[in-house]
Amino acid sequence: MSTDVPLSCKCGTIRGVARHSSPASNSRLVCYCADCATFAEVLERSDALNADGGSDIVQTAPSWVEITQGHDQLRCLRLSPKGTHRWYAGCCHTLIANTIGPASPFVGLLGEFMKPADGRPLDDVVGPPIAHVNGRAAGHPIPPHVHPRLPPVAVLKVVARAARWLVAGKKPPFVNTAPDYMRVLTRDEREAARTAAIGRADRAGTTSPPA
Ligand SMILES: [Zn+2]
Ligand SMILES: [Zn+2]
Repeated sequence: MSTDVPLSCKCGTIRGVARHSSPASNSRLVCYCADCATFAEVLERSDALNADGGSDIVQTAPSWVEITQGHDQLRCLRLSPKGTHRWYAGCCHTLIANTIGPASPFVGLLGEFMKPADGRPLDDVVGPPIAHVNGRAAGHPIPPHVHPRLPPVAVLKVVARAARWLVAGKKPPFVNTAPDYMRVLTRDEREAARTAAIGRADRAGTTSPPA
């Protein structure tokens, strides 16, 4: 059974909804790549990562996501000129989503942007993570439950859902017409943030049990 999940940044300026949410229609992954950690680092939001430096990402169809208010606070960070579009809230630095561009066939919503009704845990609505992925790209030692890349079983599950996302269409949910909404890091900025993010994860240690 699918449900509508309210979306909100921490301060409530940006709000929206993720329709058709369910374990069968979303694929939820925890990504440990250094790029995701660098995104959080630049925004001074390393607290948004789990204890091992992972980002909670719920993949869904772009056209199932609608932003209903606060469009002027949508910001986009790219770690390089050709990098992933990483959306966040200008107002309070809530991490919002990743897309691969305006015509992205999927949207990866960050878990902290999803606020299921009645305080239900996200696990109840979209299911627990399918897999913990991209450990090889973390740049620091990762716990054994993290796959070096993407395990085949997760690939199959994502592909099964992606067929529905393609049918749903590519209507981009994140639109801000302000000229300065996008920031592209310079190489020096990227390397400095990446080094800080990896160092932080190293210091945090990797001994916590699987989530
Ligand atoms: Zn906000
Ligand atoms: Zn990542």
